[in-house]
This record gives sequence, structure tokens and C-alpha cells, in this order.
Amino acid sequence: MAKQSSSDGPFSEKLRVPEALTFDDVLLRPKESRVEPDAADVSSRVSKNVEVNLPVLSAAMDTVTESELAIGMAREGGLGVLHRNMDTEEMVAEVGRIKRAHEMVISRENVVTAEPEMTIEAVDRMMQVEGVSGAPVVDEDDTVLGIISGTDIRPYLEVGEEDAVREAMTDEVITAPEDVSAREALELMYDHKIERVPVVDEDNHLVGLVTMAGILERREHENAARDEEGRLLAGVAVGPFEDERAIAADEAGADVLFIDCAHAHNLDVLDSAEAIAETVDADVVVGNVGTRAAAEAAVDFADGLKVGIGPGSICTTRVVSGAGMPQITAVTEVADVASQHDVPVIADGGIRYSGDAIKAIAAGADAVMLGSYFAGTKEAPGRVITRNGKKYKQYRGMGSVGAMNEGGGERYLKEEEEDEEFVPEGVEAATPYTGTLSSELHQLVGGMRSGMGYVGAETIPEVKERAEFVRVSAAGQTEGHPHDVMITDEAPNYSPDE
Ligand code: 5GP
Repeated sequence: MAKQSSSDGPFSEKLRVPEALTFDDVLLRPKESRVEPDAADVSSRVSKNVEVNLPVLSAAMDTVTESELAIGMAREGGLGVLHRNMDTEEMVAEVGRIKRAHEMVISRENVVTAEPEMTIEAVDRMMQVEGVSGAPVVDEDDTVLGIISGTDIRPYLEVGEEDAVREAMTDEVITAPEDVSAREALELMYDHKIERVPVVDEDNHLVGLVTMAGILERREHENAARDEEGRLLAGVAVGPFEDERAIAADEAGADVLFIDCAHAHNLDVLDSAEAIAETVDADVVVGNVGTRAAAEAAVDFADGLKVGIGPGSICTTRVVSGAGMPQITAVTEVADVASQHDVPVIADGGIRYSGDAIKAIAAGADAVMLGSYFAGTKEAPGRVITRNGKKYKQYRGMGSVGAMNEGGGERYLKEEEEDEEFVPEGVEAATPYTGTLSSELHQLVGGMRSGMGYVGAETIPEVKERAEFVRVSAAGQTEGHPHDVMITDEAPNYSPDE
């Protein structure tokens, strides 16, 4: 008898496919609530041992996260993840900048010091490279001999470039004991009109440094995400197989390492990630994954799982490779597995609005990672470009030709071969300049809090538990955006998709 069904062979079977959904396909069902958005608690975890006060991370991309943006993220309570298109030495210096930014007492290993015989030119260069405006001068035993600051040497009026630091430094140094309090340190600084005070032990050996800027910043940012020693949190992206970078980041004090790969369900990548996780003290987040099976393969050794196969705004993975997972479905699949093992989940990519961010959490994520949303801020790397009177900043995929030429190809498991063209999985673009990171974060988190009010969830874990989705039709999507009007004034948290 002739077969009549069109779906009775192994290939026809393939078309009996599950549906996969993304942000615009769903909405949160409004529920009974007593939650005032402002009272909602948005603290969460990014990995097993690292807590944040905002469930938000900035992407490890060379047009998004370097130390300036990472400091801003951690000050507001989130986490910045340093990109890896920089050499290991630079990455270590960047982690140091983040860790020094908020310390009350900068610990000895993070204090930039000068030696008495260094030349003025060398110390000036060192201070610029390290991003500090002054340095204690110590001898080989770490005994404090003096202190040198930018104003002592520039503009080279009294000293020559080749003179020794010893001649220009202030040698009557005001120091503080190890148990100095913030108040005492401030008093010392006011009384002596100075901005930094070396902290010394009984024998006048340097053990740390207190700066005015550090104390004031700490006071201003009570919600900052800090490590156990009170320093700002730092995340660092490391490539699969980059054991040395991972160890260097760990030793530099990074709190979380992110295995940065476009397809972490590659078994060699997983082996390497597991070996790295066994070697370092920092938490290790494995990504990116997008399926239940990938989550199962990583969940036993990962401290966190990062989800996103192709949702990114600058990403062309899905069109170039034909592979990907719409993000809401991807998050739910991974969260099903991760939640059984108490492993946090980060939803990475594709978030355009605050509503997308809280939908990702409702789907099972503990935190969200964004690239384009932050690329236009003042703190993101790169300069502002003006076109037709509008301001923009560059934003490019780490799998774009430009970024891969600078070393990012490994994320896509692509080796750089001489004379061979890359097959990119991302584009180079510009994004509107949006001003300060703190106002962008305010809008993002404010919108997420509103979502928590609508679903009646007081905390992030409650959003995961309580929130339900409804499926949205194409007509429903149109209805959900401003319609039948001409927008006359730009809202700070909405711009129509072009
Ligand atoms: P966005 O927030 O801009 O939508 O997405 C940012 C995320 O896209 C990043 O965190 C990273 O996971 C991913 N991504 C960054 N560059 C590329 C790229 O060139 N190709 C692909 N496929 N994904 C990228």
C-alpha cells in the first residue's frame, strides 16, 4: 500500500518541530499584587558565590566593557565583564583599576609605588599608565620615604625629566596606622590638605593607602556590588583554552571568570572550562549555551551558566550558520536544569527594553547581560561621533571582522590564519549616544521594578517563581508599542525599532 502521509520518513519527521519563542512572543500576565515597584528587592546572584545588588551585567565586548564602565556597573550594584581583546598584562591592570576604585584602604599589592631613584619622566609615565595621581615612594624594604604626586612634577617647572624622584618628593609624609577609620583618615587629610595617606605598620612599612576620592566614592555608592574586602566586583572574560589568562585574572582578584565562547556545548570547550574551574579560586560562569542538553553537560562544574545563541543586536550567527535558539525558550531550557543544581543563569543578548530584561528573569534567569544598551554610554570605550547633528558611539560584535582582527576570533572557535578571510558572525555598527551609565541603569532597573509590581513579586527569586507568560499574536505586538500616533518627544526608555 502506498504511503500517504507526508511525515512518515526520517526527514519529514524533522519538520515536527517544537516552537521556540523570544521576547516579543510573550508578555507577563498581570497578577494580584501588593508590591510597590520602588520597594522591590532587585538583588540577585550572578554565580554560586557572587551576589549583586542589581541583576545586570555589561557584555564582555571591546565597545562596551573596560574598567571605566565596569567601575560604573559595580558602583551601581551590577557587574561589568572585561572583554578579552586586550593582552593579559592590560587585563591585569584593568582588574587592578576596578579593585582600587572603591577601596577604603587600597591594599599593598594594589598600591602603585615609586622608587627614590626612578626618574621624574619614568614616574610620570607610570602614573599615567596606572591611572593614579600620586604614589608613595618606598625603598627595597617597603619603608615609606616620601610621597610623589602629579603636582610635584608637572609641568616640570622645578624639576627636570631626568631628575630623581627623591629630589621632587615630599619627604615629611603624613601616615596612618593600620586600624585607621574612614573618619580619622578624612580628618588627617583635611588637617594637612592632602588627598592620600599611606597606611604603615609599626616599622613604617607600607601596608596600604587611603585616598580622599576612595572615601568619598564609597559614601556616595552605598548600593555598590563589593567583594568581601569591600572592593568593587570585577568580572573577566577568558577564552576557552586560555588557561594562562584565567590564572592571571584570578590572581589579579577577579571575582568571576566568564568562559567566553559562542558555542560552549563544544566538548573541547567544556573540557577546557572544567579544567579552568578546577584551577582558579574565582567563580567560573560557562557560556554561551542555549539548550537543556548543553546545560546538563556543564552544570556539574559551572558556578553559573550564560545563555544566548544568536540573540545579540550585532550578531549574525543565526543567518550565517543557520543555528540558534530564540532567547526566551533558551533561557527556560537552561533554567530547568540549572535550578535543579542551584546554579545561577544569566540571559545574555537581545535585550532592547527593560521589559525584555524582566521577561528573561521570569523565564528563569537570575541576571541579564546587555551590550547595545550600554554601548552608547559615556563610560563605554570609544569616542562620540557626530552625524547630521546626532551623537553616536561605535558598537561592534566580537565576531565582526574588526573585532576579530584584534584577536576576538577565538570566541567563534576561529583561528587566525594568515592571508585567509574571516567568516564573521557579527557586524560593526553605531549606536546613539545615551549619556551616563547611571541614568541608563536607572531606566532599565526602574522598568524591571515596574514589571515586578505587575506580577506581584517582591524579589528576583519570586519573579522566577510567580511570573506567568501569555503568548502574543502579531496584532498583540503591534498593540504593545505606541501606535496610531506620531511620537513628538523622545522618551528616555523607549525608541521605536527602526
Ligand atoms: P546585545 O545586548 O547587544 O543584544 O547582545 C550582546 C551579546 O551579544 C554579548 O554579550 C555576546 O554574548 C553577543 N555577541 C557579541 N558580539 C557578537 C557577535 O559578533 N556575534 C554573535 N553571535 N554574538 C555576539
